[in-house]
Amino acid sequence: MPGFELFGAEERKELNDVLETGILMRYGFDAPRKGHWKAVELEKEICNTFGCTYAQLTSSGTAALTTVMTALGIGYGDEVIMPSFTFVASFEAVLSVGAIPVLVDVDDTLTLNPTAVSAAITSRTKCIMPVHMCGSMANMDALQSICKQHNLLLLEDACQSIGGSYKGKMLGTIGDAGTFSFDFVKTITCGEGGVVMTNSKETYTNCDGYTDHGHDHLGVDRGADLHPFIGYNFRISELHAAVGLAQVRRLQTFLDIQQKNYSILRNILEQVPEITFRTIPEGGVDSCTFISWFLPTEAITAAVVEEMKLQGILAGNFYWFNNNWHYIRKWDHLKNATTLNRLNPLQQQALLQLQQTNFSASDAILSRCISTAISLAWTEEQIIDKGNKMVAAIQKVLQQQAVGA
Ligand SMILES: *Cc1c(COP(=O)(O)O)cnc(C)c1O
Repeated sequence: MPGFELFGAEERKELNDVLETGILMRYGFDAPRKGHWKAVELEKEICNTFGCTYAQLTSSGTAALTTVMTALGIGYGDEVIMPSFTFVASFEAVLSVGAIPVLVDVDDTLTLNPTAVSAAITSRTKCIMPVHMCGSMANMDALQSICKQHNLLLLEDACQSIGGSYKGKMLGTIGDAGTFSFDFVKTITCGEGGVVMTNSKETYTNCDGYTDHGHDHLGVDRGADLHPFIGYNFRISELHAAVGLAQVRRLQTFLDIQQKNYSILRNILEQVPEITFRTIPEGGVDSCTFISWFLPTEAITAAVVEEMKLQGILAGNFYWFNNNWHYIRKWDHLKNATTLNRLNPLQQQALLQLQQTNFSASDAILSRCISTAISLAWTEEQIIDKGNKMVAAIQKVLQQQAVGA
């Protein structure tokens, strides 16, 4: 990842179709658009590629989450259980519909720990939202059985795991609904965009109307549509959909490259016996957008990240430096309930409560984790060079620790 690394002729061709007609909107203008319906085509392509019955494009991944939560009836006072390690968009969407994000610990899958999920269920819980971070998934069987037992919705934030799968199903198509993001740094990109995937006709129809001011899309023209409920504007444009169409057709190529590059790097890192890799639940297939691994202690991990930085290697760590966006430790705006307007009182109270919540189990995972994004553009020599430098940095730190001990 990301898809922009291989942006080219196919994307330009699809875009040109739209530029030549000048019809940038996905609805209406039937005659002048000369048969080009890029958003409709992309939705079909997504259903075929990922194996879901319905797909609703949106203006972003965040909009997809907000849309689907509304479509599923999640609102004021409902609790949504989600992981402490995610992108801020996941809790933003929960807050935007009036619901309460309940953050729980992750385990070494880097996503929801099912035991922590069970412990967090209350009479207000409405939905469990695993976030398949960095290309791989939560234990979906365990989460599905919890949802069944407590009659809860299962919503997958699969924005970071396009192309990963679990027991033969693509991530994002397993729960009641799932979302992808096609923002500029995701596995496939259209600049800004997202999608809701579902097998429920009712959920889809709600999403279809909600993203377009509540239009039922049943009138003879837009003006004649009825508005069965209040909606919003989360539409995607034809320009964005055109780029997405070219990218989704190339997904398998992207995944093949990611997998190959991942394997080369992993083989090199496996030379270091002190490294363990993130756990992939049984039956899971990693999309290989990232390689994520653990060192034995927080101190060693901090020293390795510093050493790699000195050598010009980007070693992503979500706990201390180089990232304020993916882990609760850095979310003071959330823990202080800092908003530009007023939250509802239930939300306000729940957010301030986070200051007292113990996330030491997540800290113990994230403080030892290093994640490297797998580039589509790397040559084999570059990967080998990078891998060797990473191993040298790790071994240097481990030797220093041994001498110091
Ligand atoms: C990128 C991302 C989103 C939001 O997507 P946007 O298209 O940037 O709004 C949501 N959740 C996760 C986990 C993401 O990585």
